[in-house]
Amino acid sequence: MDLVFATGNAGKLREAAEILGPGFRVLSPADVGLAGFDVEETGTTFRENSLLKAQALWHACGLPCFADDSGLEVDALGGAPGIYSARYASDHNFASNIERLLAELAACSSRPECHETPATFPGAARFRCVVTLIMADGKPHFFDGACEGRIARERHGAGGFGYDPVFVPDLYPNLTMAELSEDAKNAISHRGVALRLMAAWLATL
Ligand code: IMP
Repeated sequence: MDLVFATGNAGKLREAAEILGPGFRVLSPADVGLAGFDVEETGTTFRENSLLKAQALWHACGLPCFADDSGLEVDALGGAPGIYSARYASDHNFASNIERLLAELAACSSRPECHETPATFPGAARFRCVVTLIMADGKPHFFDGACEGRIARERHGAGGFGYDPVFVPDLYPNLTMAELSEDAKNAISHRGVALRLMAAWLATL
């Protein structure tokens, strides 16, 4: 089955193709004549932004398509950066976004109620992802994924993207997401969970 994915991010396209497997061909907007496809993320939740992107693509191409919206939630920061993950300090600049995150957490964990832990800041964090799928009838279907973890005090690893160098998943408590292989990340990631739910739903059609 052909599915158009509302992203220009080559890494995300590859990740989705790998996660969905050989039964699916994942196309980019450029593959269906929509090079430069972009949507302003004006929603207030991951679900709203994911829906905005999927609907815009569906109206533009009329083909079965899906979109994702994702980000990092840190409990000690009241859920920030959340939907602003890509533009926390500066738009799509991963290094300065991580810098701001570590600075905010350092300020917060100097408070007396925050106890020192050796490698990670106190408190839970998670990556979240909402995938919206729209088939021929134009009706949206939502699939949610999350990956629980903590924030490392220092960056480690060179894999992945975004906040991966400072995200320590609960399932690999001694590694950051950026130190995992692509397969290991896909097996536990928020996007992996959401896309496998979508694949399972498509398999029931
Ligand atoms: P979007 O879903 O493309 O809007 O991405 C939101 C932002 O969340 C990205 O720019 C990253 O900063 C962050 N993010 C989303 N998924 C991941 C991930 O798998 N690893 C690290 N950062 C991520």
